[in-house]
Amino acid sequence: MSSRSSSPAQSPTPAQAPASPRPLEANFLGALTDLPGVGPARAAALGRLGIANLRDLLYLLPAGAREWPAVIPTTEALACEGRWVRVRGKITASHRSRFGGKRSVVRATLEDASGKLEALWFNQPWVIDRVVVGEEVDFCGQLVKARSGLALSSPRIGHGEHALPEPGLVEPAYPSCEGLGAETVGKLCRLVAERFGPGLGEPLPDAVLAELDLPALSQAVQNVHLPRSLPAFEAGRRRLALEPLLGVQARLHERRAGRGGGRARAASVDDALHAELVSRFPFQLTGDQSQVVHELRRDLGRRVPMRRLLQGEVGSGKTAMALYAAMAVIENDGQVALMAPTELLAEQHYYGTREMCEAYGIEVALLTGSVPKDERRYLLTRLARGELQLLIGTHALFSKSVRFRRLDLVVIDEQHRFGVDQRAAIAGKGLDVHLLLMTATPIPRTLALSVYGDLEISTLRELPPGRGSVTTRWLKPEQVREVSALLAARMEAGEQVFWVCPRIGSEEGISRTAAAERRYEQALQSPLSTYGVELVHGRVPPVERAHRLDRFRRGEVGMLVATTVIEVGVDVPSATVMVIENAERLGLAQLHQLRGRVGRGPLDSQCFLIGDEKAAERFLLLERSNDGFELAEADLAQRGMGDLAGVRQSGANFEGLSDPERDVDLVLAARDLMRTRPDLRASYLRARGGPQTP
Ligand code: ADP
Ligand code: MG
Repeated sequence: MSSRSSSPAQSPTPAQAPASPRPLEANFLGALTDLPGVGPARAAALGRLGIANLRDLLYLLPAGAREWPAVIPTTEALACEGRWVRVRGKITASHRSRFGGKRSVVRATLEDASGKLEALWFNQPWVIDRVVVGEEVDFCGQLVKARSGLALSSPRIGHGEHALPEPGLVEPAYPSCEGLGAETVGKLCRLVAERFGPGLGEPLPDAVLAELDLPALSQAVQNVHLPRSLPAFEAGRRRLALEPLLGVQARLHERRAGRGGGRARAASVDDALHAELVSRFPFQLTGDQSQVVHELRRDLGRRVPMRRLLQGEVGSGKTAMALYAAMAVIENDGQVALMAPTELLAEQHYYGTREMCEAYGIEVALLTGSVPKDERRYLLTRLARGELQLLIGTHALFSKSVRFRRLDLVVIDEQHRFGVDQRAAIAGKGLDVHLLLMTATPIPRTLALSVYGDLEISTLRELPPGRGSVTTRWLKPEQVREVSALLAARMEAGEQVFWVCPRIGSEEGISRTAAAERRYEQALQSPLSTYGVELVHGRVPPVERAHRLDRFRRGEVGMLVATTVIEVGVDVPSATVMVIENAERLGLAQLHQLRGRVGRGPLDSQCFLIGDEKAAERFLLLERSNDGFELAEADLAQRGMGDLAGVRQSGANFEGLSDPERDVDLVLAARDLMRTRPDLRASYLRARGGPQTP
């Protein structure tokens, strides 16, 4: 989008911006059915877009806007990858292919004096009737990289009396849903903007608007729904985007303030102890780790309970950070609970830390659902007496019977995998304890600032040195065989292989051959069995599973066939190949996590994603990038805010953030305003989240 400094819709008049902030009323605009052409059916369709009343319509935030471009020659268009271009010429070829189900692609070739350009429409079979060979048309769309080269993606078609809009016209991108086209939504928005926009009050004082270089709300809705130029649209969009952020930040401020009482026990770490703790690790901390350790040390030394989220790339060494914090607390006579989302991961943590704990006289125990009763009772007694200092486990750690003598720190690994109930239980236990949350699913900055706004954030971007590279390749299901020869070669060289199937058995919808059990049996009957094969999945009893994993970890078997249970925590440095079947069933974040199981040692690794075309976009992203942060941003852009990092479950508020990273400055501005202006904060708290959540 264009520059922010030029904002034509500036300086609100005093009439639009009353000096004292005014709470926003929820229903001052009445019902949707008051609009001409809107009956119950259309109102219901609007409801599906989250629009419940006229006010929602007025504040509806288009995803963006674009200016209709002028016609350029096809040769010139071909140099504009990623851009929105308009070409004009004769259709010289068109074709429709249908695949299974509702999938289809229409292709058309447009030729002008300079050359030709291909256009593609996915799953819009009717388009074939609109691309008639021999006709003179305009195509306007985004130029993207397709398998066959650069092509226009689902361009709009202008023909005869259905000409495309004039170049220069600015068009906001409205949402649509079944039974309601984007054009209708736009029309309704324009209507309410004309009718109600001018009378809209402005809760923010002039000075604040001027400083942020934003128009008043009344002007903003006009700018957004009746844009005169792209800069005007953008200025308006930013004002509308800010409104709900103010509500979110007002509430976050309250939450933060609510825990300022200082009821936790401080764990002090002087320089000598710090040096001692750091020296306990068998490696040198990375620069990022040193920074995080510094932050932890500072937090733990305070009586204000720590609320820190540590986000770090897979393999970046988060566990060591948790251990530093744990040891700091234990040296101060406190107890620590380390919770993992799965038994497998809890076991991994337990076996991975036991040696270090023993060496330094720390009593550690593992508590999961499968610990036998007697052992459990004994363990709980020791815990209550304070004889156990570090307790590692699953959410079983937080059942009622578990009593600590002096719990000072709770560490939650892979925190995004815990559900709402579990989080509530943890929160209930730990108002007065320090809390360290860890996640390998990076949270984009805006989200971190809004949804997780009451947490401090630490980040590990750097991987420990001496790691090999990981190359990712997408293969079609029919190419599975190509992988086998490579596997044998790798295992012959003493390296190891993960083979992941997303399901255990042969349930519906999954081809039998893809199921883990079947793959395992096939592997046993193939030459690969020479190197040894193990199978793990959720239905293998824990003791047996630990045993099998151990065999793999120790290198006694070359290949591990598994379901996604191994997604987190399995750390085998000599594993260099990851094969993921039915990869289209898994999300970007999950695939990235799985891929993180290889590339943990000095050897170069490979990851094969076997999956069908429908997830092509995801696979291509993974081929291109190994950076979890970049992928998280892309994931967010593709799927929208809700799915990432379990935010949907968190019940937190993230309304209005249609484009996450674009508005970081607004999020920051909202946070600062709500921190420094109690009067505004009070008014936004009363307004309950601003216009989008009446
Ligand atoms: P994750 O962040 O994915 O939880 P882990 O904590 O499991 O990563 O660490 C991955 C591996 O890296 C472990 O084997 C750990 O011992 C090792 N490691 C962690 N920090 C360092 C470091 N600074 N130098 C070398 N190896 C390290
Ligand atoms: Mg980890």
